[in-house]
This record gives sequence, structure tokens and C-alpha cells, in this order.
Amino acid sequence: MNYKRQRHMMFSLLVIMIAAMFLSACGAARPALVQGKTNIVTSFYPLYDFASKIGGQHVNVVNLVPAGVEPHEWTPKGRDIKTLKDAEVFVYLGAGFEGWVGDTLNSLEKDAKVQVVEASKGLTLLPGIEEEGHADDHGHNHKEDAHEAEFDPHVWLSPVNAKQLAQNIKDALVKADPSHQADYEANFKQLSGKLDQLHDKFKQQLSKTSKKEIVVTHQSFGYLAKEYGLTQKAIMGLAPDAEPTSKDMKEILSFIKDNNVTYIFFEELVSDKLAKTLAKDAKVETLVLSPLEGLTEEQAKQGMDYVSIMESNLNNLVKALQ
Ligand SMILES: [Zn+2]
Repeated sequence: MNYKRQRHMMFSLLVIMIAAMFLSACGAARPALVQGKTNIVTSFYPLYDFASKIGGQHVNVVNLVPAGVEPHEWTPKGRDIKTLKDAEVFVYLGAGFEGWVGDTLNSLEKDAKVQVVEASKGLTLLPGIEEEGHADDHGHNHKEDAHEAEFDPHVWLSPVNAKQLAQNIKDALVKADPSHQADYEANFKQLSGKLDQLHDKFKQQLSKTSKKEIVVTHQSFGYLAKEYGLTQKAIMGLAPDAEPTSKDMKEILSFIKDNNVTYIFFEELVSDKLAKTLAKDAKVETLVLSPLEGLTEEQAKQGMDYVSIMESNLNNLVKALQ
């Protein structure tokens, strides 16, 4: 082989390698729709988890909000909306959780083939907080987001509600792909059995704790608290962006003292700065309580899911409420 030819081959190889790198990088960046499967696009993690478990091998599920990202402030890009429109099923929560969903659905053509599912349909919603806004010196209202919310959207944090969400997803799948109805029913039965067990564990273990008061990062545990007789005090509002005022912080500190609270809960997708500051001031400890709005990249790698994270939530609740 002469030198020139060898050089030419090396160059071709390099081109192929670079092309392969580009292709795999694009593939990894955004999971695409798959032909021959029922494609389901979900708006955030718990819906993704339930759709994957119920659909099993017959479906390809694409979650819009990636691991490590907090969904309250997330909005779709053009390519997300295209993926959603080309899918067979689109599942969103509703109850005001996805602020972007109204405009997106309005932009769908009348004859769009995607079946749209509002997973929270049929659930009894708790009202959003009607708290007085605290205007600061600049007239900026820190709790304006909380002020606007008509409902508390965090329904999935009660396992009883989670079962209803799963049922709505199952019904939509059966409608979209009736040929695999038997498998969808069987997978749903297995999942709902696990959710029943989870509910029993929560009920049993939380009925025995001496304390009932929890201090959390954002006001996301209303349905869980109602289901198991707890009282939540949140540092932030219904979304983890409403900054508390110094008056709010004082009020939370006295709540901690009055109720002998020994742990403050923080979340992994939101800065723990406020929780840590409060804990330091009140001389108490911190623990994780996940609102399951998304997984961290680590949790996704470890294969954790709704049920396993709720179980670690229960362990931490029991520890904090002894
Ligand atoms: Zn939330």
C-alpha cells in the first residue's frame, strides 16, 4: 500500500468516526419516536413512569422534562411540540400544573391524530393558596405565583390519586392500541397493586408517629398531608420560585419551635439554601422529601421510580415525626 492511499484511508475512517459521533450524540440528546410502537409523550416524570410500566414492550415513552430539571418553570421548545404532535398519545397532568399546555393544545390541528389525555381528570382538587402577597420596597409581590393558582396541582403525591392517574393512562392506551388490551390491563393491575401496598404502608406507619407537622421546601405535599393526617408548612409557595419574606421566615421558625419540629425537608431539584439556613437558625437537621416532580440523573441511572422514591419518602417522614 503506498503512502498516499494509506493517508486517504485514514482520512475516510476519520470522517466515518466523526459522523458516527455526531449521530450518537444527536440520538442521546432527545429520545425519538419509534415506528411500530405506540408512542406516548408525557409531560413529567410520574406520568412517564406509569405509562412505561403499563405500556411495557408495546410502547415507546418520551418524557418532555429531562432528568435533573424541575418542571414548574419548564416550557417546551419547537422540537418538543413536534414530537408531541407526531405521537399516538400525549399525557399531561392538568390541574394547572403545565402552564404551557393550553397554548400547545390550541395549536394542534383539528384533525391531529394524537390522543390527548388529562391524567388528573376525575380527581377532587384542593384549592390553591389564597395567601396575601407581601410587597417589598420595590412593590414587587414575591408570592404572586401562589396567588394566581386556582388549584393545588400536586395530586400524584397521594398514592390513592396516583392509582387514578395510572387508570386514566391505562384507559387511553387501551383506546389507542386495543390489540394489546390484555397486556395493558395486566400491567395496570400489577402497578395498582403496588400503589395499594404503598398506601397501606403510609397509612399504617404514619398513624403511629407522635408528631404530625412537616416543614417542606415548596407547598407540594397537600394531598399527601390530607391523606395521612399531616400538616405541612412550606418555605415557598405552590411553585418553588416564590421567595419567602423575612416575616415568612420568622413565622416558619416559630412553627418549628411550637411544634418541636426536628427536621426540615429539602428537595433535590431545588436549591437547599433556604432549608439549610432555616435549619441552622432553628438548630435542627435536614432530610430529603421528594415531591417526585422529576428524578435526579443519579436516581434515573439507579433505576429508581415512583414507588421506590415514595418508600424512601416514607422512611424519612417516619424518622422526622418520631
Ligand atoms: Zn411543585
